[in-house]
Amino acid sequence: MDFIQLYRGLFRRFRSFVLGRDVEIVGHCLFCGKCCHDILLKDGHWLKKMRDFEKLCAREPEHKRFIPTGRGDLGHLVFRCSMQGDDGLCVCYENRLPLCRNYPSESIYYKGGWIRPDCGFRFKSTTFRDILMRRRQLRMPKFSDVLKQEIKQADK
Ligand code: SF4
Ligand code: SF4
Repeated sequence: MDFIQLYRGLFRRFRSFVLGRDVEIVGHCLFCGKCCHDILLKDGHWLKKMRDFEKLCAREPEHKRFIPTGRGDLGHLVFRCSMQGDDGLCVCYENRLPLCRNYPSESIYYKGGWIRPDCGFRFKSTTFRDILMRRRQLRMPKFSDVLKQEIKQADK
């Protein structure tokens, strides 16, 4: 995890705590299958070494479905899933792994990550700006009330 992502995650957790608002996951799956490749795997830490991936597979053989395809910018191993059919859909949908069932999870957001822009889901968070704008709107009188007041004044 790079420093900027770490900082972003910390900031998001701090903001959520201060505002008392959790991030929401909105939208729906478009069944494009794009989250089934370019996968990073975690076993305590994000995997960078083949040795660690082999250890994970030895302990949890269901991870053998993942095939290493290269490395990301930060040196993490990148995988594709062998359970993805030619149509992009999962061939073992009912038995997919927890990491697949939980995607996209709130933990991605609080760790500073993103959902890919072409995914049908997105994070919806409340920002400090949202709260300020809401307060300002509450303080601001309605235009119609001001107009009525002006008309009353003019009639006197
Ligand atoms: S990338 Fe998003 S829209 Fe596409 S299959 Fe995965 S969860 Fe669904
Ligand atoms: S098990 Fe299915 S849902 Fe999970 S990564 Fe593989 S193809 Fe995608």
